[in-house]
Amino acid sequence: MTKPMFVIVGASLTGAKAAEELRSNGFDGRVMLVGAEPERPYERPPLTKDYLRGESGRAKAYVHPDGFYEEQEIELVTGVTVTAIDPGASRVTLHDGRTLGYDRLLIATGAEPRRLHVPGADLDGVCYLRTLADCDLLRARLDAGGRVVVVGGGWIGSEFAASARQRGLEVTVIDPQPLPNERIFGPGVAAFYRDVHRQHGVELLLGEGVDGFEGDRAVARVRTASGRRIECDFAVVGIGVVPRTGLASDAGLEVSNGIVVDAKLQTAAPGIFAAGDVAHAWHPFYGQRIRVYSDQYDVGMEYSGYAPQWDEVIFRGDREGGEFIAFWLRGGRVAAGMNVNVWDVNPQIEALIRAQQPAEAAALADPRVTLDSLAGELAAGS
Ligand SMILES: Cc1cc2nc3c(=O)[nH]c(=O)nc-3n(C[C@H](O)[C@H](O)[C@H](O)COP(=O)(O)OP(=O)(O)OC[C@H]3O[C@@H](n4cnc5c(N)ncnc54)[C@H](O)[C@@H]3O)c2cc1C
Repeated sequence: MTKPMFVIVGASLTGAKAAEELRSNGFDGRVMLVGAEPERPYERPPLTKDYLRGESGRAKAYVHPDGFYEEQEIELVTGVTVTAIDPGASRVTLHDGRTLGYDRLLIATGAEPRRLHVPGADLDGVCYLRTLADCDLLRARLDAGGRVVVVGGGWIGSEFAASARQRGLEVTVIDPQPLPNERIFGPGVAAFYRDVHRQHGVELLLGEGVDGFEGDRAVARVRTASGRRIECDFAVVGIGVVPRTGLASDAGLEVSNGIVVDAKLQTAAPGIFAAGDVAHAWHPFYGQRIRVYSDQYDVGMEYSGYAPQWDEVIFRGDREGGEFIAFWLRGGRVAAGMNVNVWDVNPQIEALIRAQQPAEAAALADPRVTLDSLAGELAAGS
């Protein structure tokens, strides 16, 4: 009897973890993991942090050790792009024209950097950061030193800026918002991060857009909307990502800011699932992915939950000293939490969010009230 075939498109964190889960849950059919990149699956967070700074090697970035896929009988195919999905025939087409039948299909094609379309954007030295290959080029630029302009003060831009400063480069960050990330985190947390960068010598041009890049063949200056020109040896653009949904929409699957899936990550097409950055998942509480983390200089943080809107942000701990927890309250309930340089509190923060019970702001702010007791009380009420 032929074994069922589970094809996974996209061999990055989501694809690799899905393949691992299939095996650990006893799936004994064929698992084929197809990825466009030449590398075996790796994690991207080190690409703005230790790997970028040259403090760790490739081995640390890989999701699984060498040999894992073979041991688990996962057929890993790298350097191969899936160009089409035919849901009717349960087949995918590969870039060389071959086709592959599936019984189940997981689309894990992730996201790609949003491009900045301004004059000079195709000059040499205008860089993006998503892949190990992008990172290797930037790592070499950090080795060369000099001056970099970072366009965008979101997470990628901020983390890149921090690493570049740590490597001794002169760094200017340009962002059109008066306070980067303010819409997500509110003024308190956003101002904290702005100040951390200033204290580390980053020049921040806030409330400024970028109008163009100038130079002969390579970028030499970034021109802002107000006409300022910032000299640079290279520029890094980090203005967000867009989910890679082309395959899915061409196949007639519903796409709306990602491939639309239900709480079980199923699309409306039988046997086709989507997960990770490409998926727009319906989450029982949030409808969104709910955990991120970041490191900048000596400031580490974990953010759990999702609070696109909130009524108030409550702080617990030492905000000035950079060791605190922030809670976003919506309708009196904890919608999200961020621990900054405070560790081993994530399970309690997630328990507070999951409880979905009214929480007392004064108790959240009071370090004498333990998070364990608060989480316990709220869980008992749910
Ligand atoms: C520099 C950087 C730093 C980050 N740091 C953090 C962090 O600190 N904390 C955090 O929470 N998140 C961080 N992220 C985000 C995190 O890396 C992503 O959420 C995660 O990579 C998503 O994994 P994914 O597998 O869904 O998609 P991706 O990692 O985007 O992978 C998708 C893969 O699919 C492949 N692919 C696409 N189309 C096809 C096709 N047609 N055929 C075959 N293969 C295809 C792509 O080549 C790619 O390898 C960071 C991201 C970047 C870029």
